[in-house]
Amino acid sequence: MAYLTLKNVNKIYPNGFHAVHNFNLEIEKGEFIVFVGSSGCGKSTTLRMIAGLEDISSGEFLIDGKRANEMGPREREIAMVFQSYALYPQMTVFDNIAFGLTLQGVDEDIIEERVKKTAAILGLTDYLDRLPRALSGGQRQRVAIGRAIIRKVGVFLMDEPLSNLDAKQRVTMRYEIAQIHQETGATTIYVTHDQTEAMTLADRIVVMKAGYIQQVGTPYQLYYEPENIFVAGFIGEPPMNFIRGKVQGGAITFGENKLDLTRKMGAQAKAYEGKEIVLGFRPEHISLQPREDAYQIDSQVELTEMLGDNTNIYITAGQDQAILKVDSHDTPETDIPLTFYVPLENVYLFDAETENRIHL
Ligand code: ADP
Repeated sequence: MAYLTLKNVNKIYPNGFHAVHNFNLEIEKGEFIVFVGSSGCGKSTTLRMIAGLEDISSGEFLIDGKRANEMGPREREIAMVFQSYALYPQMTVFDNIAFGLTLQGVDEDIIEERVKKTAAILGLTDYLDRLPRALSGGQRQRVAIGRAIIRKVGVFLMDEPLSNLDAKQRVTMRYEIAQIHQETGATTIYVTHDQTEAMTLADRIVVMKAGYIQQVGTPYQLYYEPENIFVAGFIGEPPMNFIRGKVQGGAITFGENKLDLTRKMGAQAKAYEGKEIVLGFRPEHISLQPREDAYQIDSQVELTEMLGDNTNIYITAGQDQAILKVDSHDTPETDIPLTFYVPLENVYLFDAETENRIHL
């Protein structure tokens, strides 16, 4: 049986706003789950319902098979790390980490042992006597995480824990959070709007949009098997390219290009005759060398961005724009024509009306 279960969970705020719609998810013990989506899509609301900080309007939340809707936050054995560190400024690092245990009246020797162990995991051993103001942003965030993990609860909830850090600190802390998860094996639900954080940390990702789950899957599944245009465009950096066109005579035309859809869709192309279709391909799944079983696309180079090992090429083909990611040794001149090849196996097709993937 799943450790945490959300069944048809809805959140309607008192002002009538329906923030989360029919949320269904089963989480196994020890899993690292990431909720990802743009700001306002309902990630924090869902997390707060799990924490017991927000009522569940309808549906059920189960912990270990037991209904938890009415349980208070403490009873749920869940610890939460917030976006703002919320450390006590007048207390040392030691006291901040120990706070929860002190409140519970845990024996001092045990507190000392557990704080030291937690500090060692987080690399805070040398800072235990300091006040929060004498720490860097990354160190403060570690104290906040320490305060949560010392409680040895079953579930950790993290709401954008890295958003107050600079880019470099975020990468370091991301690695540390992954390590802490490996060491503690604790079930973790992590909220972020950053697809890179989601991809690097998650066992499974829940992609949300406007209060609805779009897809649940491993990073690999979301990258290679996106179910709709939103997920395809959200996961991956730079995002997937989309070319929209009307199917005429089994082909779509854009710029100088006419792509024979029957090569990809076979007889299914007939069903789309006269309708709009969206063709997707990832910037990194193209080749500048001619290939068999590929669409040849003629384009114009508008701009190149040399990023070290690779280069992003911004191209146009008629009205359509796309980004190609190539080895930086292959960086072309700007303002020249460029022909590239997209292997058929790397082409995705979406229904322009429903925006859902067309399964072939
Ligand atoms: P996210 O975490 O994905 O950024 P939230 O869960 O915080 O999104 O918010 C989801 C939606 O619910 C947003 O449109 C937000 O404005 C709305 N919302 C959040 N809290 C309240 C509230 N207390 N009352 C009414 N609407 C709210």
